[in-house]
Amino acid sequence: MDHEPLIFERSRPGRVGSNLPECDVPRANAEDLLGKENLRGKLPLPEVSELDVVRHFTRLSHRNYSIDTGFYPLGSCTMKYNPRINERTAALPGFASLHPLQPAETAQGALELIYLLQQHLAGICGMYTTTLQPSAGAHGELLSMMMIHAYHADRGDSKRNVVVIPDSAHGTNPASAASCGFKVKGIPSNSRGCTDLDALRAALGDDTAALMLTNPNTVGLFESDIVEICRLVHEAGGLVYCDGANMNAMLGLTRPGDMGFDVMHFNLHKTFSTPHGGGGPGCGAVSVKQLLEPYLPVPTVVKDAESGAYSFDHNRPKSIGKIHSFYGAFLIAVRAYTYIRALGPEGLRAVGENAVINANYVRSQLQDSYDVAYNSPICMHEVVLTASRQKQQSGVRALDISKRLMDYGIHPPTNYFPLIVPEALMIEPTETESKQTIDEFIKVMKQIAIEAVERPELLKGAPHVTPVSRLDETLAVKSLDLRYEPLFEDEG
Ligand SMILES: *Cc1c(COP(=O)(O)O)cnc(C)c1O
Repeated sequence: MDHEPLIFERSRPGRVGSNLPECDVPRANAEDLLGKENLRGKLPLPEVSELDVVRHFTRLSHRNYSIDTGFYPLGSCTMKYNPRINERTAALPGFASLHPLQPAETAQGALELIYLLQQHLAGICGMYTTTLQPSAGAHGELLSMMMIHAYHADRGDSKRNVVVIPDSAHGTNPASAASCGFKVKGIPSNSRGCTDLDALRAALGDDTAALMLTNPNTVGLFESDIVEICRLVHEAGGLVYCDGANMNAMLGLTRPGDMGFDVMHFNLHKTFSTPHGGGGPGCGAVSVKQLLEPYLPVPTVVKDAESGAYSFDHNRPKSIGKIHSFYGAFLIAVRAYTYIRALGPEGLRAVGENAVINANYVRSQLQDSYDVAYNSPICMHEVVLTASRQKQQSGVRALDISKRLMDYGIHPPTNYFPLIVPEALMIEPTETESKQTIDEFIKVMKQIAIEAVERPELLKGAPHVTPVSRLDETLAVKSLDLRYEPLFEDEG
């Protein structure tokens, strides 16, 4: 591949993109204002033209893989298409130009949207009310743990310091419980990949604050004992938290609130089609049953019954306090609201149904080429395969299969999660993909299964067509270096 000059290499002395007027603040004043030690004598920026900059960053952007460029079956993450109408409404000046400090009387439309979205979400999951404040699913989990803690403390039941979590859970679950000061008690899954009732019974006691459960769970299966599970936890005096990251499978079909859950988080950036933006902003909206309502973070958005006016309520004595500046990522709420209203109840139900159908189609087509992790009659919105067979046959691992997919222009599925499945490949096609796209993926996966037998070295060295091939994955995560560096040592 040709070496692309870096923006610093493009620098030529005196070349500029645009001319700013001379600074009219005398340096002496600046020194007074900021202190001499804070003033920089020289700032070594590249000297480039506007066109140099545009080309450089446009080229880099072409190296990104996104849902807008191709199939993205990253399990658990629900990488569905983000409809453009969502962007259109979020860009309406009345929303986009709002200032968070402007008086509520001048932002009634925005408050109404927040209020309505909270109600829609509560209706979709069968709860009482919702807060949109958390920035992400993990943030919603933490908030929920804080509210559960406050609930027990309020009742004077202070010895409840244990949160029970199945071993299939997303890593954020134990992290959130521990961050809130709870002790985490793990319980094993049964041979069907679901919560083991005996293990649950044994784990529950008068120290149980809550059970955190993902439904459908992280192996893509519906917890069919869910009503009994919730009953057992309630009987022990605990509350039941639903990790709702997998809500896409249940939209319009069933509701966690009806199953017995007391509180859950949504990932608006998964289920409700708002972008997963490189770490933010997202929204991990949390819906609660009435018993947790007093503990919601401040402020809440309330509607005056007589005048119909909306306002922020800061006067909530039992609230766990603030968890976000202002009221969270408002424009994410606009996108999610648009999505829900554009689809309507029938559309949401079709999302759930098609998400499940698509995953089962992938499963049925690939189950000869790969082993399915758990042999239930159907899966929900995602299917977990395992590359154990390939590993045994030719030493090809799930990672090698994923890397090889990149050569075919497809984003890898989730690897090595859930932890209870060895060599896991977790595939979530989502409802927004066409049969043609899914068929293409199936064809490639079958081809890779053949390659794994006939040319294993090809997979172990993949990817072959990307700007960089194998990275030290641990190092890349632990010491992320976001600078753009030369890739080719011989030309450096
Ligand atoms: C994505 C996910 C989370 C965390 O959500 P974030 O928005 O990434 O913080 C938690 N649990 C499950 C099962 C998930 O898939």
